[in-house]
Amino acid sequence: MKDYTAIADASSKLVELLGDCVEWEEQAREDASYDGLKVSFLPDAVIRVNKAEQVGDVLRIANEHAIPVTTRGAGSSLTGGATPIAGGWVLDLSKLNHLKIDENNQLARCGPGVVVADLQSLAAESGLFYPPDPSSKKFCTIGGNIACNAGGLRCVKYGVTRDYVLSLAGYLASGEYVEWGRATRKFATGYNVRDLWIGSEGTLGVVTEATLRLVDLPPGTRTFLGVFESDEVALSSPGELRKLGLRPSILEYLDRWTIDCLQKYVGTDVFPGIAPHPMLLIELDGSESQLDEQAKKLEGWLKKTALAYRSAHSLEEAEELWEVRRQGSSSMKKLATTKLNEDVVVPLDKQVELVGAVERLRAGYGIKIGVFGHCGDGNLHVNLMYDEENSVETSRAVSALKELMSKVIELGGAISGEHGVGLAKTPFVREQFNKAEWQAMLAIKEALDPNKILNPGKIFDVFHPWDQKKISTILSWELEHEEPKPQEA
Ligand SMILES: Cc1cc2nc3c(=O)[nH]c(=O)nc-3n(C[C@H](O)[C@H](O)[C@H](O)COP(=O)(O)OP(=O)(O)OC[C@H]3O[C@@H](n4cnc5c(N)ncnc54)[C@H](O)[C@@H]3O)c2cc1C
Repeated sequence: MKDYTAIADASSKLVELLGDCVEWEEQAREDASYDGLKVSFLPDAVIRVNKAEQVGDVLRIANEHAIPVTTRGAGSSLTGGATPIAGGWVLDLSKLNHLKIDENNQLARCGPGVVVADLQSLAAESGLFYPPDPSSKKFCTIGGNIACNAGGLRCVKYGVTRDYVLSLAGYLASGEYVEWGRATRKFATGYNVRDLWIGSEGTLGVVTEATLRLVDLPPGTRTFLGVFESDEVALSSPGELRKLGLRPSILEYLDRWTIDCLQKYVGTDVFPGIAPHPMLLIELDGSESQLDEQAKKLEGWLKKTALAYRSAHSLEEAEELWEVRRQGSSSMKKLATTKLNEDVVVPLDKQVELVGAVERLRAGYGIKIGVFGHCGDGNLHVNLMYDEENSVETSRAVSALKELMSKVIELGGAISGEHGVGLAKTPFVREQFNKAEWQAMLAIKEALDPNKILNPGKIFDVFHPWDQKKISTILSWELEHEEPKPQEA
């Protein structure tokens, strides 16, 4: 039951302190009601702050009156992380986009609303490089990337967002200011709450400034595309390339089904005369001499192992090869009204087993599933396409999804490698942890957000008290109210 007196009280305090930043209009609320998952819940207000201190004010009022607060960057979350499922207030940080490069210390200080590609462009002007590069980098924000510990294509060589965060400033649920870590290369002083905030999906605090480590901008790149006889050969690449002393900056896999799909729907015959087979997109980076040496080794491996390969000699040719990876995803969208992108991650040597399991799900349930992604990290994106209006197809997709998640856990993997749990993965998250682990996570949440105002409904809350029926089909299967399964470590 909503406490309307508390809401009225909180609203008037909010207007008093931040009048100009608060939007009550239907359109503003609708725009903030959903993210990349496209499940909509209307908030009561959208607050677009101009200054970091205002975040403290918003949280203090919200905490006093138990108003749910969902922090929002660009709203590109694919798991419903920025969806205000409990209503309340959406705290939009897109205007906190100050950005400064400190060349001497090789770091960037930025507001959470900075768009990732803008940071990369500005750093490049000083010969510096911010490597994390989610495919959404042209619109997603640093705040969202920190909250999800975002990854991307270059993680295979450079690591994920977490590896570049030196310090985070922001506000606790109480509205009190904190700074975790410092702008130093090392920090071993007290609990590392900085790393706890990273990947916590806005459930433990709100980031209002980040100090990020930068590295030297690699002078050049070379791109290759190879087609392979089998998944076994293609997915042996992380180990085989390492043995040759190669560290590709990008190592992307596309399964046979995805290649077939793109050839049918986009009409691209990638390797004329060769039927659809698994492919790898490989990029090397470094100086000209390093690239010459690495390219020689890589071509040697490709000649020996691939059915055929192409290498790019210019940026235009590299773009052509990149199109294969990009169209792999976009062609799948033509197949059905819903495309679920599950960013599962397994140990490198379990990828073949995972792809085999997907093949069985595809055949067993008769649904369309394509796999592509970051095989250098074991982070494969399993895409399930189905029409939500077709109840039989939807229930098959849901069953396939459940089996997929169980398989990932059985293989020692994780249900999300970079997108986070958000809303969409709450039905599976309990399977990932044993009781003690789950209780420890709940205790952390309780300590940092005792009134549970920060992004309620995410990560933990499988059983949404608000309106379960409204959640998209994928979440509306019958949820059993049971304790998490105790798993022995
Ligand atoms: C086309 C497309 C491609 C994508 N490719 C990738 C990819 O390659 N790799 C990848 O990792 N992801 C990818 N994503 C997912 C998405 O872009 C990332 O999860 C991204 O990190 C979200 O950033 P955002 O600014 O949109 O955050 P939002 O969607 O607004 O929010 C995401 C989460 O972060 C929280 N949050 C946002 N800002 C803050 C803050 N300042 N303090 C505390 N919490 C905060 C929100 O509450 C929410 O839980 C893709 C998405 C799309 C649509």
